[in-house]
Amino acid sequence: MCISLVVKLTRSRDDHYRNHQLIAHHALIMEECIFCKIVKGEVPSSKIYEDDLVIAFMDIKPVNPGHALVVSKEHQKYISDLDDKSTARLISVAGKINKALRKSEIRCEDVNYFLADGEVAGQEVAHAHLHIIPRFKNDGFGLKFPAEYGKMLSGEELNKSASNIIKYLDE
Ligand SMILES: [Zn+2]
Repeated sequence: MCISLVVKLTRSRDDHYRNHQLIAHHALIMEECIFCKIVKGEVPSSKIYEDDLVIAFMDIKPVNPGHALVVSKEHQKYISDLDDKSTARLISVAGKINKALRKSEIRCEDVNYFLADGEVAGQEVAHAHLHIIPRFKNDGFGLKFPAEYGKMLSGEELNKSASNIIKYLDE
């Protein structure tokens, strides 16, 4: 819940009660977040790394053995809501795990990083996290492309997308 919503809801006395309900609901969501519980040590995990900003542990439902998650200590659903320090740390710790996996006895010919940002993109836990997935030939995992994939767009169409994004980059 954003701060502006809280402010708006506290405008009238009737809304005051609803505001409390919303805050309680928000607190409940925070309370139930499995990754926050792992960060706090309330739920056990097979931890492989921890520092001031991130924690990394084994995924309990691995795509392949060795599948790890790097999780921000701060609770944010979207990666873009994390500060630059935490975002950078997620990637640098993923790099350490990537190198360790390749040296380990775990079967790992190459590595996928996967980040699902929101439910439609496949996010199952609403707390920013990066998957580090060891890959080997014919492991059965892969990305599914839409039927029309492969069609190249014209320069004009690409520039239209580019300018649409550029317009909002500094916001
Ligand atoms: Zn959380």
